[in-house]
This record gives sequence, C-alpha cells and structure tokens, in this order.
Amino acid sequence: MTIQVQKTATAAGQALDAPMFDRGAYRLTAEQADIITRAREIGQSVLAGRAAGYDRDAIFPTENYKDLHRAGLLGISVPKAQGGLGAGYQTYALAAAEIGRYCGATALTWNMHVCSTLWSGPLADDLDMDEEMRAAHERRRAIHYKRIIDDGAIYSQPFSEGGAAAAGGVAFGTEAKPVKGGWLINGKKIFASLAGHADYYGVLCTEVSEGEKASRRNTLYLAVPAKTEGVSVVGDWDPLGMRGTVSRTLLFKDVFVEEDAALMPRGVYFQAAMRWPHMFMTLSPTYMGLAQAAYDFTLKYLRGEVPGMPPVKRRMYPTKQIAVAQMQIKLEQIKGIWFQAVTEARANPSKEQVLRAYAAQYSVMEGANELAALAIRTCGGQSMLKTLPLERIYRDSRCGSLMLPWTAELCLDRIGREALYEPGETDD
Ligand SMILES: Cc1cc2nc3c(=O)[nH]c(=O)nc-3n(C[C@H](O)[C@H](O)[C@H](O)COP(=O)(O)OP(=O)(O)OC[C@H]3O[C@@H](n4cnc5c(N)ncnc54)[C@H](O)[C@@H]3O)c2cc1C
Repeated sequence: MTIQVQKTATAAGQALDAPMFDRGAYRLTAEQADIITRAREIGQSVLAGRAAGYDRDAIFPTENYKDLHRAGLLGISVPKAQGGLGAGYQTYALAAAEIGRYCGATALTWNMHVCSTLWSGPLADDLDMDEEMRAAHERRRAIHYKRIIDDGAIYSQPFSEGGAAAAGGVAFGTEAKPVKGGWLINGKKIFASLAGHADYYGVLCTEVSEGEKASRRNTLYLAVPAKTEGVSVVGDWDPLGMRGTVSRTLLFKDVFVEEDAALMPRGVYFQAAMRWPHMFMTLSPTYMGLAQAAYDFTLKYLRGEVPGMPPVKRRMYPTKQIAVAQMQIKLEQIKGIWFQAVTEARANPSKEQVLRAYAAQYSVMEGANELAALAIRTCGGQSMLKTLPLERIYRDSRCGSLMLPWTAELCLDRIGREALYEPGETDD
C-alpha cells in the first residue's frame, strides 16, 4: 500500500497531519508506517471530532470501537495468520501515540484492550514454556483472537485493587480458586477502565489452593466474560480527566470461568513481569500523543489557524516564540527517549535499558502535562475554553503519572535505588 501523508484529506477536508514519527527519520518499515498512518487517519478524521462529547458526558467511546474494529485496529497485535495486523510492541506504541493525539480516553482504553493480545502474543512468545504448555497457550489465545477479529470483542485489563498489589509489591487480593473445569473468582478491582463496556475483563488474580499462602508467582491472567453471573459494576464515575475511560469498580462474587479463559498459562504472567518489564510501559503512548497534541494546538493557535476561532495571529510576539521553542525542545526530548525505550522493549533487557524505560515513562507522563500547562499559559485565556481541546488535553495529561505500576513516584524510586544498588546489595 502507498503511504499518503500530508496529501491525504480527512472527511472534513483538512490535510492529514504529519506523522509524529516520520518513517524516514525514525527508520520505520513501509508496513509499520502503513499501520501507524491508519491510526492517524482514524484519529484525526473520526476520533478527534467525538472526543469532547465523550469527555463532557463521561461516557465510553462505543462508536469509536466500532470504527477501530472496521479499520482492523482492534486486532493490531493479533498475528497476521489469525487475521490481525501482526504489529509488535514498537509499531503498536507508535500507532497508539497517534490515537492519543486525537482522543486520550480512546487511546488509554484501546491500550488495555491491545495489551490482552500483545501480552499473550509477541511477549509470551519470548518467555519459557514447555512444548505442551505452549501448544495449550496457542490453542487458547486463538479463541480470544478470533472473538476480537470476527466479532469486535473488546477486552479490558483491571488489575488495580487499592492496595500494594498493582504496584507489584504483594499478590493480588482477587483470588481464583481451582475447581472442576476452571476457577471460581472472588474479589474487587478499582479504576477498571471499560467497566460495563468491555466484553471480557482481563483480570489479574492469584490462584489459591486450600492452606497455601498467596504468592505473586501464582498470578493468573483470566478473561472473564462480562455477562457472567457474579460480575457487577458499581460506583459512579466523575473524574478530572480521562473521563471517557469509565473506570468504575468491578466486583467478582463466585464467578466461574473455564480453563480456556486463561490469557497466559500458569506462572507466565509472573515470568513476564520479571523478564519483560517494558510490558508496564504500554500506558505511555497515550500520553506521548497528548504531549504532541498540546504542541500542535499551540502552533495552530498562534498562527491563527484553529478551526472555529477568528484568524487572529499571535506568532509575532517574541515571548510566544520563546515559549514555542521551549515546547519544541521539551517535545523532542520526550520523543527521543521514548522512541529509544519502545524500540528496545524485549525480554531480559539490560539494566541500562530498564533504567531508560523508567526515565522514558517519567518523562512522558510528567512532560505531557508540563507541555499542556505551557500551552495554556502561552495561548492565553480564550484557549482554555471548553469549546477547544486544550483544556481536555491538560486534564487528561494530568492522569498519566498516577498509573500503576509505573507512576512518576515509583519510577523515581526505582531509578534511584536500582542505579545505586546492584541486585542483592545492602549497606549492612
Ligand atoms: C483514568 C484512569 C484509568 C485507569 N484505568 C485502570 C485500568 O484499566 N486498570 C487498572 O488496573 N487500573 C487503572 N487505573 C488505576 C491506576 O493504575 C492506579 O492503580 C490508581 O490510580 C492508583 O490510585 P490509588 O489512589 O489507589 O493509589 P495508591 O496505591 O494509594 O498510591 C498513591 C501513590 O503512591 C505511590 N505509591 C504506591 N505504592 C507505592 C510504593 N510501594 N512505594 C512508593 N510509592 C508508592 C504512587 O506514586 C501512587 O501514585 C486507572 C487510573 C486512572 C486515573
């Protein structure tokens, strides 16, 4: 397929925005650029126009998911042999940044969905399994992939519980008890994005047998059909930002799931968490996109080119030019470290690569909101009215550094400790 960049027109007749990561400059293949362009096209021509409504009403972007399915993007990381686009980690991350540029809530929820295929797919392929376990896993994941490709099934990823488990400190309190043919699940998940809207909740829980102590090693990743008896969605949802994610509370009361619900075999999630740490960086593309959006808006605004606004130019003032220069420098810094980190995501990364991944996550999550704040200061009072996207970008971007397990605080904590101590070292 030929890649059309700026010449392509959107439905509204606008020229398509330039890619955040140019194919030539970032040495991407034609296939990667095609998938990323697909994300940018749908982002700019479809998602951008709907974002304000989902945000205002704090409702899930259901129509966007129908369009993402039609564009093949629900299966972005499903292998080609099973009808997907076969995107690996880097391609997915770059496409997700383009979606985040136009609708943060769609990008963040799409991330939860895609991770169910990325973690069970290319990531699991890098991990140790014996032949029998791998064959069973391949058979099972094909069931999940078929639902996504054929029916547009949506998966979510609730792991937060309000305690130390989501930060990786202790075993998940949500428990799966083995019973004939499957498991019985009991527990509670907070901030469960897509609650009430996903078809399957990809629940992280601890497999517990009678008399055994709960251990992180026994973490299971199970796709619970949303309509199963015993599953309920409770609580309201009226947050500062990322309002379209509808991250309400999920309760599981004696919920039976069959063995085929496993998105990863026993022990493999724990192995992934230990050996494939970049799996926890997948929330960052959304915010990389928001950082770009804050910058894009500022340029258009100062050039007097924001649709619906009087064509008043403000670009001739030296203070505005300096602010834009500062924003551009910050954006390039974030893009540089983030691109490097998503490019080197792999099993068994070096210590340097892991520290860089924390630094990239921190830079994106804090940097996106810093850019949005600078954009508001630079563009001025009219720019933060609710009729324009900037104030939503500001609110949405504030949520990034709160996302466990790699919050901004936890990244600082880990970088400091892991830079100063080798594994097992103490000062005693
Ligand atoms: C818009 C949005 C969508 C979300 N969607 C999902 C989702 O789909 N699935 C999901 O599982 N979760 C989701 N979350 C939840 C998110 O990942 C966090 O779990 C949640 O924000 C934690 O809130 P808390 O107040 O309980 O944090 P707490 O656990 O009380 O932590 C507060 C802060 O303390 C710090 N902290 C925590 N533990 C430690 C520690 N051990 N050492 C040092 N510092 C620590 C962290 O910086 C943390 O931000 C979402 C959150 C938001 C805002």
